[in-house]
Amino acid sequence: MAFSEGRDPLEHTSLYQRAESEDSDAEGGLGNVNKLIMRPPGHSGKAKKGHICFDATFETGNLGRVDLISEFEYDLFIRPDTCGPRLRLWFNFTVDNVKADQRVIFNIVNISKSENLFRHGMTPLVKSSTRPKWQRIPREQVFYYKSAQHQNHYVLSFSFAFDREDDVYQFTLTYPYSYTRYLGHLDNLCSRLSCTKRETLAESMQKRNVELVTITSDLEDTERPRKVVVVLARVHPGESPSSFVCQGLMDFLVSAHPIAQILREYVIFKIIPMLNPDGVFLGNYRSTAMGLDLNRSWNNISTWIHPTLHATRSLLQILDKDAQTPLDCVLDLHAHSNATGVFVYGNTYDDVYRYERHTVLPKLLAQHAEGYELLNTQYNQDHNKAGTARRYLCSTLKDQVNCYSIEVSMYGYKRKGISDVLPYTEEGYYRLGRNLARVFLEYYKLTGLIPLGLPDQPSNRRTRQSRQRHRLPREPRPRTVRTPATLHLASIYEYFQEEAEPLPSARYRSMSGTRMGQQPGTGIASETGTGVGGCRSRSYRFRSPGAPLERVQALTKRPAAEPRLTIIDFNQLTKGGLDLATSKNKPTVLRRNIKSRRCVAIVSSRSCEENIFSKL
Ligand SMILES: [Zn+2]
Repeated sequence: MAFSEGRDPLEHTSLYQRAESEDSDAEGGLGNVNKLIMRPPGHSGKAKKGHICFDATFETGNLGRVDLISEFEYDLFIRPDTCGPRLRLWFNFTVDNVKADQRVIFNIVNISKSENLFRHGMTPLVKSSTRPKWQRIPREQVFYYKSAQHQNHYVLSFSFAFDREDDVYQFTLTYPYSYTRYLGHLDNLCSRLSCTKRETLAESMQKRNVELVTITSDLEDTERPRKVVVVLARVHPGESPSSFVCQGLMDFLVSAHPIAQILREYVIFKIIPMLNPDGVFLGNYRSTAMGLDLNRSWNNISTWIHPTLHATRSLLQILDKDAQTPLDCVLDLHAHSNATGVFVYGNTYDDVYRYERHTVLPKLLAQHAEGYELLNTQYNQDHNKAGTARRYLCSTLKDQVNCYSIEVSMYGYKRKGISDVLPYTEEGYYRLGRNLARVFLEYYKLTGLIPLGLPDQPSNRRTRQSRQRHRLPREPRPRTVRTPATLHLASIYEYFQEEAEPLPSARYRSMSGTRMGQQPGTGIASETGTGVGGCRSRSYRFRSPGAPLERVQALTKRPAAEPRLTIIDFNQLTKGGLDLATSKNKPTVLRRNIKSRRCVAIVSSRSCEENIFSKL
């Protein structure tokens, strides 16, 4: 169908007609909203500032429909996966044409998977054109609850205050990682390094490239015993953290780090970073362009409908037959929408020794991955998982090949002694990828492929000891506990602490890794934040990961009882629940038993800040 110029290409989806319709099916239209300006009822003519404009017609974009509920409130509908109307979780859209200080409530009303991490305190991410680093919307602004107005469906509501008129704001479920970014990364990775080889393994249904990257030292060297590790990622497009993990692994493997050098000597890594490029491009949650879940299709592959899986399976079969460099391990990287931490789905074997061997790599991962969750790790032979890569491949490849799904939370991980979930940042996902490389080093040392001394150079150690014999005896060094690498406790505290609570320690690291030397209560940085709309900012309770330090102020040095933006639900007030309405600081599943249509007032305050959003 050809569209004449100037016509809305989504007109045929009847998106707008449906938006005005009363009998909503809560599934949005077939396409994404395309610069959809929301005008108040009865308004005609040129749109004014504050008639906000929604758009999701970009790579990985997803927003199917918007309903204007009141001056402040909008119902947003996730566009279902193409040809997969039941799948609705990934969202990613922009908003512009806002007024400074405009406050809104967005309700995402058609999430298909009610059991998700919003129940555990996850909040959407936001950035704007002048502040391009993703920030999490503070938890006190986000609610996930069963809504009587939406047929008792779970609804994600969050409030937001726009602060800069000319900015374009973007909201998303988790850090996006697009098809273009994937190609750009591979261009960078493979163009100048001799240890990489890049090939196009297959084309998707919509003619996008599925690339295969081989990372090893000298492919021509046939003398050294080597094994092959295959890593697959992004079979589910909405699980973008798996792309960050995969990139972290690849970047580490090509680096000059001694562990990477040793691994390249003994292991051939075959990495397919994006198995479902169409789904990623389209902004789907789990499906291909044809609405297929590729990780349920491995046991029923069709050349025509699953070209990427077909090519991957052929590759694996060829690698499996190679006696010189045998295939040893297949990792399939995923992100989980309902569990925290890092964990593994593996297989069970009747042979107890085989099963023991299968559990070695996950045990090493438990030692090296921050936030590994043993309780979420599962080994099974479920029938309903027969079409997954790890189940299918373990039954068709040679017996010694281990296949796993590695899952990382879309939100965060738990840490001993801290009750809250610590959110992952993009850097946290990269770090997990680097730690996967360490796991392989330990694994292949344990299994005898890599000599035990490497890469620690034991000969150097002996030399040092022999030198010490000629020195004066020293006091033995006190035993110290080895602590894991940087975890930014203080910054994380800022996320969740009430303002009066002191910092956990006098010295701490910022999210960007800079050591902060300030004593508690002395203030950290300048107090002259430009603030929103030119206001001087006096307090920052929330700071985003990686936000510049100038924005941060000591939590303990604060004016008391500062007025704040507060949202009061009048329907709650009629029930005599003022305290109830104003004390909901925790992200809980909130039931709203409201008889009338939602009626929410926003009481504004003078306080404002440099952060992308104003606080409640
Ligand atoms: Zn998945």
